[in-house]
Amino acid sequence: MFSIDMFKNIPISEENKINAIEFLNHYKSGQYLYPNVIIRSVKISKDVQPWILKALIDNQLVEEERYYRCSRCASSTASYCKEEYEMLEDLYCEICDDEINLDDYEVVYRIK
Ligand SMILES: [Zn+2]
Repeated sequence: MFSIDMFKNIPISEENKINAIEFLNHYKSGQYLYPNVIIRSVKISKDVQPWILKALIDNQLVEEERYYRCSRCASSTASYCKEEYEMLEDLYCEICDDEINLDDYEVVYRIK
């Protein structure tokens, strides 16, 4: 469960904090949080999203991972945590075997 304490030093309104907690509490440990989904969440405005991510990161509630997608067939591939993606030298799509561009990734956050 996320608590409002995580926003102690974050300059967003009380209303945004409450809405963010309500949104975050739909997530369980091990699930992935996509930054775009925060923006798309009904009650949270775009300019508040970076502050929510900052609070999650500062409080070590999430682990940052990189999510690679094959640009040829758009098939998804796995996410890799920092220790793993720093070791990656090449990556191939499991569906079409095409080489995946390692500079083309989406940052995702895994809930701890
Ligand atoms: Zn592919």
